[in-house]
Amino acid sequence: MIMTSSKTFQPVLERIAEEIGRTPGRGRPADYIPALAARDPRAFGMAVAEPDGTVYGVGDWREPFSTQSITKVFTLALDLAREGDELWEHVGREPSGNPFNSLVQLEYESGIPRNPFINAGALVVTDRLQTRTGDAAAELLGFLRTESRNPDLDFDREVAASEDAHGDRNAALAHFMASYGNIDNPVPVLLDQYFRQCSVTASCADLALATGFLARHGVRADGSRLLSSSQAKQINAVMMTCGTYDAAGEFAYRVGLPGKSGVGGGIIAVVPGRCTLCVWSPGLDERGNSVAGVAALDRFTTLTGLSVF
Ligand code: GLN
Repeated sequence: MIMTSSKTFQPVLERIAEEIGRTPGRGRPADYIPALAARDPRAFGMAVAEPDGTVYGVGDWREPFSTQSITKVFTLALDLAREGDELWEHVGREPSGNPFNSLVQLEYESGIPRNPFINAGALVVTDRLQTRTGDAAAELLGFLRTESRNPDLDFDREVAASEDAHGDRNAALAHFMASYGNIDNPVPVLLDQYFRQCSVTASCADLALATGFLARHGVRADGSRLLSSSQAKQINAVMMTCGTYDAAGEFAYRVGLPGKSGVGGGIIAVVPGRCTLCVWSPGLDERGNSVAGVAALDRFTTLTGLSVF
């Protein structure tokens, strides 16, 4: 262990980047959304933010990338802050053990998705946030801009259009849940919101900062409270058990932190009370998680001892 009491995270980040740079074999960028396929699988960045907003980084940590499913954490927080426990009548909080875009459990379970981090569950959350705000994606973007202190964050229209053009599976999920009465808005409106949500582009530095409220037990960067500390604990717990889909057990085993991945190659992670992390490398494993990203977080918790276990 090299640094639990050190003031700066920089030495450990540099050591991890150096180790990752020496590791061949990085997986493959997602190609089912064609606009994501062009990224270099060898790109790598990592950032750590402390609760006071101090941020450390290495490699491509200021390079914007497609956030994709990482945004599911923020829409969940924004909706939970508004509607509280009623949300859990519409989406569960158990691991699915299935791929993120799977349809199979939905019929057995009457259109109630297993958890908010598989696509079906995220569609329900975005639908409910849409009903409550009138523009869920704008609500998300505003939150991310404020928490990251980066007013330039934006949607990537090319990625959203690419996902729309190849969005049959998400459309199927939304229509199927609508048939059970678990979607309030017209499906085309919901899909537009969801694809824009997934298209937000941000860097490791932006996302490590934006995740800070989960390390601060529900408190935003300006000191105001978004969630109760109990709700922040609940989101961290669902990230731990469901944030990396059918690899959540392996992620908990290797990393030991609440985490959430996206098919753009990013992963956010939380050390409650201590710091938040974001790592990015576009090469994915077969379950849709960044190969180098998981390896880097594994090394971080091993080297620092900063895990929830
Ligand atoms: N936008 C992607 C989709 O809906 C998000 C998936 C992911 O990042 N795991 O397929």
